[in-house]
Amino acid sequence: MHEVSIAQSLIDVVLDQLRGERATNEQVTLVRVRIGVFSGVVPAALVSAFGPASEGTALEAARLQIDVVPLAVWCDACGAEQELPTAGPLHCPKCGTRAAHVVRGRELEVVSVELGRRPS
Ligand SMILES: [Zn+2]
Repeated sequence: MHEVSIAQSLIDVVLDQLRGERATNEQVTLVRVRIGVFSGVVPAALVSAFGPASEGTALEAARLQIDVVPLAVWCDACGAEQELPTAGPLHCPKCGTRAAHVVRGRELEVVSVELGRRPS
């Protein structure tokens, strides 16, 4: 299940950030991530992988909030960006031309992290 390794790398990104900010005594309460529908990540699977993966880290009490980014492609024929309803074949929904490239929908990134004090 590759969501486990994705959860692990998201946690590593956040822990690195905490070290960079010298905030290693803080407890993370919320991690907000952005996931494109074309990234291949299943949000529900990521949420269930996140709990066990974060155990014993500063993120173990954190909630994972996922913003899903819809898939959008650039269509040369229309000269416009088009949003696709599903992560299916990359064809323009307006004219059917094969889309030149994906504009959005491949995101997999940490947007923000909220911190709280570790209870003493
Ligand atoms: Zn088009």
